[in-house]
Amino acid sequence: MSELLIIDGSHGEGGGQILRSSLALALATGRPIRVEQIRAGRAKPGLLRQHLTAVKAAAEVSGADVTGAALGSRELTFIPGPVRPGSYAFPIGSAGSCLLVVQALLPALLVGDGTFTITIEGGTHNPSAPTFDYFVRVLAPILRRLGARLEARLDRPGFYPAGGGRLHLTVHGGAAQRLARLDLRERGEVTSRLVTALVSALPRHVAEREIATACARLGWDASTCGVIASARSPGPGNAVSVEVAAAHVTELFVGIGEKGVPAERVARTAADEAATWLAAGVPVGEHLADQLLVPLALGSGGVFRTVAPTRHTTTQVDLLRQFVGVDVAVRALGGGVWELEVPPMTSSSIDQVRPGSSPSGTTTPSD
Ligand code: ATP
Repeated sequence: MSELLIIDGSHGEGGGQILRSSLALALATGRPIRVEQIRAGRAKPGLLRQHLTAVKAAAEVSGADVTGAALGSRELTFIPGPVRPGSYAFPIGSAGSCLLVVQALLPALLVGDGTFTITIEGGTHNPSAPTFDYFVRVLAPILRRLGARLEARLDRPGFYPAGGGRLHLTVHGGAAQRLARLDLRERGEVTSRLVTALVSALPRHVAEREIATACARLGWDASTCGVIASARSPGPGNAVSVEVAAAHVTELFVGIGEKGVPAERVARTAADEAATWLAAGVPVGEHLADQLLVPLALGSGGVFRTVAPTRHTTTQVDLLRQFVGVDVAVRALGGGVWELEVPPMTSSSIDQVRPGSSPSGTTTPSD
């Protein structure tokens, strides 16, 4: 068994993400890890339900030996076995984000062997996390373009505080074929614009006001760009998604409704993020940037242009260097445009990944 890798969970952004990415890399490479100082800088440090579910899920799919898997735990030792295809269910037990649990599992399932069917219950439309719509509209299509075979389905959304959302994810792993190289330097022509106001157990005027506000801010025609989606969830909830599809990428910007926050403000959050991305002229938004790094590093690498890297992104860059020896080049191109290049993994790193894997060809945005 390879040597235990010690990860400082308080490094960089120091939140839940460094833990999830460490789990993902441990699963994919088989390397045992100890994560110390988990979420040390947060108001409630240690493992919250969402993080604990991610740990338990990673342990279950790989038959890992784990110590420290408890609520509030600030240190975790995780000794994974090989990922095992099958059907799994992971109830978070709170409104914690299901998509963040997916973050800890997906990179390894993509390089695993066999079919994984996963059901997760909790929040599906949370602030400061990818929403279900973001996952299916933005991240999943890019991964599919690189050769990943995955589908996701939403039974019902879950919102804070009631939770109770449920999603299903099916991943057909492909041990013999790593993800292709990504080249996402151009956005291409914008081809469609959509504002979706999702509401559960809230008056229709909330959605109407959000669509009107977002469209007015973006100069879009609300009669053709706005859609109201009514859903049944165990509790009330609301999310407004501003989606822009371009020739080479789709991006989506979200505002999550909150008690006491006017619908107009929720819509402005999403619309202003979309406007900033549109003005930047880059394909990859700030959130997508950090979420692409681990899958690319485990695949054949790639290059993409984005806005100034966030702390989430720079923390991922540091973790990849430490964990798999992948040195992501981060270049400022001027005018607020940045280029990140993830090199293909070296042969020694490749040896740690699933047996039989070998780098495959390049894909272009039009693939
Ligand atoms: P914390 O320890 O701060 O409580 P956490 O576990 O809830 O953290 P973070 O470590 O902050 O989560 O990671 C959040 C993840 O969600 C990041 O990958 C980030 O890119 C993603 N994310 C945040 N906001 C959005 C958004 N609006 N759209 C898509 N992805 C998002």
